[in-house]
Amino acid sequence: MHRIIVVGASAGGLSVAEALRRAGHEGTITLVGDEPRMPYDRPPLSKQLLSGKWTPSRLALRSEADIRALGLELRLAVPASALDLARQVVTLADDTRVPYDALVIATGVRARRLPGTDGVTGVHTLRSLPDALALRDRLRPGRHLVIVGAGFVGAEVAATACGLGVRVTLLESGPMPLALAVGEEAGRFLTSLHQQHGVDIHTDAAVTEIVHAGGTVAGVRLADGTLVPADDVLVAIGSTPNTEWLAGSGLADRDGVGCDEYCAAADGVYGVGDVARWYNPLFGTAMRVEHRTNAAEQGLAVARNLLTPGARRPFAPVPYFWSEQYDTRFQAYGCLRDHDEALVLDAASADRRLLVAYRKDDRLVGVLAAGKTPKTLRPWRARIAARAPWTAALSHPTAA
Ligand SMILES: Cc1cc2nc3c(=O)[nH]c(=O)nc-3n(C[C@H](O)[C@H](O)[C@H](O)COP(=O)(O)OP(=O)(O)OC[C@H]3O[C@@H](n4cnc5c(N)ncnc54)[C@H](O)[C@@H]3O)c2cc1C
Repeated sequence: MHRIIVVGASAGGLSVAEALRRAGHEGTITLVGDEPRMPYDRPPLSKQLLSGKWTPSRLALRSEADIRALGLELRLAVPASALDLARQVVTLADDTRVPYDALVIATGVRARRLPGTDGVTGVHTLRSLPDALALRDRLRPGRHLVIVGAGFVGAEVAATACGLGVRVTLLESGPMPLALAVGEEAGRFLTSLHQQHGVDIHTDAAVTEIVHAGGTVAGVRLADGTLVPADDVLVAIGSTPNTEWLAGSGLADRDGVGCDEYCAAADGVYGVGDVARWYNPLFGTAMRVEHRTNAAEQGLAVARNLLTPGARRPFAPVPYFWSEQYDTRFQAYGCLRDHDEALVLDAASADRRLLVAYRKDDRLVGVLAAGKTPKTLRPWRARIAARAPWTAALSHPTAA
């Protein structure tokens, strides 16, 4: 296993490269990234960077010296364009061919767009540093930002924009923001949090058109004919895995790169981070999670499995994510989507306190909290990891 190529130079890809070196791998590691900058962190894009509290340099995942010390063949600003799985060669857009013994796919996802909006001034998506800087430039007091999609990215930007004195309208196509992902009660809590800060939330709002005049956005048209005027529109309607370069390899479909419990997509090929849909034996299901911590942890797991093929270990984490909106920090462990029940154990929107437990069949599979300390949540994480039956998990003395 001499030559390892990691495609995608961000949280997941860097985690693999570092873990390989830490474990003593002395062979070549080629790290390929299509962005023209050193690896940086994305969660602050909608928070500290957008609010102006942090400068772009604070987003660097490592210093240049630390990255240099890894002794990588660093190929930035050039995307991988093709994979020849049989010959074990990755081709880059500049026609360089990189033969490998092992390949790690860590190309993440990109923001979905609305058709017909490319090049329209004032229409934004948020995935990269340039996206965030372009949006930040436009968020000034008194301007009106309309956000299409009340998922976590949309909700975080709403909170940050409010803090900048921007008037915010949040459009949600369903009956309740985030209800599918986290359940109705938690959706109601989020709605109330945003309304307390003056965000105008429209539910059941189906967007039919982004209206623009002379190449500049003017508003958003809804299915009932309403025109919501806007100075800027953020389209935050989810993501698409970056897998086009894998065309013909059979490794990817519309939901990313399919991997087994070891995160292997094929012999000597592994997936990491947002792009990877792997079988998580803890939950007995395949999942693709777009969480920062998962990208880093999966990178460590893949490096270990790459270097010890005879002693590979399944990757069976309890996924974790956090979100910051206004002064409220949300944290979640486990698998909240597709739950059978979301049981509210504590909710006080005035105090910004929330605790919801999630059941799938007869098991505790997740927990979501706001305004709780990590210490409160740790026992919940342990119960999810232990596959605790629902009734036993809830009757535990630390469950309240
Ligand atoms: C605005 C925002 C806020 C977020 N906030 C949170 C949060 O609060 N909490 C949380 O848990 N998570 C959050 N996330 C999610 C978190 O940032 C991701 O889970 C994490 O970045 C995933 O890392 P990754 O390395 O798998 O993918 P990415 O970070 O997407 O990196 C993939 C890299 O591969 C590059 N690439 C794509 N195609 C190619 C190609 N063909 N060749 C070479 N390179 C390619 C991409 O340009 C990118 O640089 C947030 C994300 C965003 C966008």
